[in-house]
Parts: sequence; C-alpha cells; structure tokens
Amino acid sequence: TKRAGRNGYHFFEASMNVNAHNQLQWLQDLRMALERKEFLLHYQPKFNSPSGQVLGAEALLRWQHPTHGLVGPDEFIGLAERSGLIVPIGEWVLNEACRQMKVWFDMGHEDWTIAVNLSALQFAHADLIDLVKDTLSRHGLPARCLTLEVTESTAMHDAENSLKTLQKISDLGVDISIDDFGTGYSSLLYLKRLPANELKIDRGFIRDLADGNDDAAIISAIVALGRTLNLRIVAEGVETTKQQDFLTSVGCDALQGYLMGRPMTPEKFLEATSNLQNS
Ligand code: C2E
Ligand code: CA
Ligand code: CA
Ligand code: CA
Repeated sequence: TKRAGRNGYHFFEASMNVNAHNQLQWLQDLRMALERKEFLLHYQPKFNSPSGQVLGAEALLRWQHPTHGLVGPDEFIGLAERSGLIVPIGEWVLNEACRQMKVWFDMGHEDWTIAVNLSALQFAHADLIDLVKDTLSRHGLPARCLTLEVTESTAMHDAENSLKTLQKISDLGVDISIDDFGTGYSSLLYLKRLPANELKIDRGFIRDLADGNDDAAIISAIVALGRTLNLRIVAEGVETTKQQDFLTSVGCDALQGYLMGRPMTPEKFLEATSNLQNS
C-alpha cells in the first residue's frame, strides 16, 4: 500500500540520515584525531626465512577513539583517503615510525628496517620526496633503515609517473616494497623496469594455500619471478606452521604473520624480539 510504501521510504530515509550523520561524525572525529594525539602505531615483526632472524617491522596505524576504543585502519583509511586527511595522517605515521626506528637503531638494532605503508594519495603528492628526505634527516636515520610499501595497484596507476616517483624514492636509498602483489595487473615489462626491492605476496594467496592448489602454484611462480628480477619475496599473513613450511620450502625470503608475531606496541615488540634472539 501507499502507506507501507511511505513507511518504507521514511525508514530508508531515516537510516540514510543516520548513516550520513555517522559519516559526518566520523569525519569530524578524524579531523580532530591528529591534534588530540589519538593515533598510534603497532609494529609487526618481519623475519628472514629460513634463518628466523628479525629483519625489522611494519608500522600499522591504529586510532584510539574517545568512545569507540581502538579502531583499525580498515575502518577509517578509506574515509581518510576520500577526505584528503590521509596526507597529514600519513605524514604523522612516517615521522612517528622513523622516530621509533631511530630509538631501536640507537639501541643497537642498526640492521633493522621499518616499513611504512603509503596511500595512493600520498604517493601522488608532489611533496612526497622532500617529506621522506626531511623526515629521515630530522631523525638522523639512514635511508636504508626505511622501506616504503605501495600496493601493486597504486604502483600500476599512471605507470609512467609512478616509475618516476619510485625511482626518486630509490635514489634516496629507501627500499620499495610492492604490497598486495598478485592482486593488480603488472605486466612483466613494467615489473622489469620497476625500481623495487621487494614483492609482498598478497595475504589472500597465503590464506587459501593448500598442497598442490592454484595458490601454491601462484606463490611458487611469484618466487621464481622474484629470483629472475632480483627482488626479495615476502609472504604476509602466515598463520599456520603448514603455511610457514610451504613458504620456506619454495624459497620465500621473509615471512610475516600472526604465527610468528602480531602487530604490537613498541614495548612488546622489543620484548618479543629480544626473547627470540636470546633463545
Ligand atoms: P597491509 O599493508 O596489507 O597490512 C597487513 C594487514 O594484515 C595488517 O592489518 C595486519 O595486521 C594484518 N595481518 C598481519 N599478519 C596477519 C595474519 O597472520 N593474519 C591475518 N588475518 N592478518 C594479518 P591492519 O593493521 O588492520 O591494516 C590493514 C590495512 O590498512 C593495511 O594492509 C594497509 O593497507 C592499511 N594501513 C595500515 N597502516 C597504514 C598506514 O599507516 N597508512 C596507510 N596508508 N595505510 C595503512
Ligand atoms: Ca603493508
Ligand atoms: Ca599487504
Ligand atoms: Ca591489504
């Protein structure tokens, strides 16, 4: 009936308003979050395979929201990207990660690297190279201690300009890691020209990994490709010893995942990794 229709419409409209309000509220909260110092970084260890030596950490953004508690990046990175707020937030991340890495460096972990994720918007931002250079020198951190992770799709978008940006990053002495590899559409020709140091196999391939299935074959192929192009191959999202054994057997150079270490506070990170190295 018309009435039911109207009710339906009103209901829909009401929920839309709730949604719109939520979005607006989240955006307002996000705008204030930097100033209110609500962001923090967790660090997930990365290990050499097969030696198990700690290679460093990936910095992963968290938001301590005043009412929602600890919020993960999947909940707000999209909004940060759409609103442009990811640029100042990303600046904060880079600075904080380099500051923390310098603390570890001064403690004697001079061979560690800190990996920082770059959003597509940051990657396209004209000031990126100066920002990276200035951040490193502000902390007195050698460029080799920093790795920047860009997703395969970000690196593929506007390929010619991406290559130029990646080359400038590489010229600084900063390593480049191609994240979520296998989900984009890189051509072999493009990969060959890419001044990258590392390919990070997308977690999806590792999650669905089983003996002799397609994902196992794809992973082996990516490792072979990495050998040919002289790129380090990293597997992330390693949750089981079975996955670990497979990835080691096909020759992945480094592993990351809940099995070996979750993202954690810098204090916990140091504790966990020093326990490992002393044992
Ligand atoms: P990513 O760069 O692919 O990071 C890996 C994600 O997988 C992280 O989720 C990590 O906690 C999670 N992970 C690691 N090991 C395992 C595992 O064994 N099993 C499972 N199920 N998950 C695992 P997180 O921290 O929620 O981050 C999600 C995404 O948010 C990241 O994906 C990255 O794209 C983005 N992100 C995180 N921090 C930043 C940042 O500072 N800047 C930007 N632009 N993006 C960020
Ligand atoms: Ca990453
Ligand atoms: Ca990834
Ligand atoms: Ca991802």
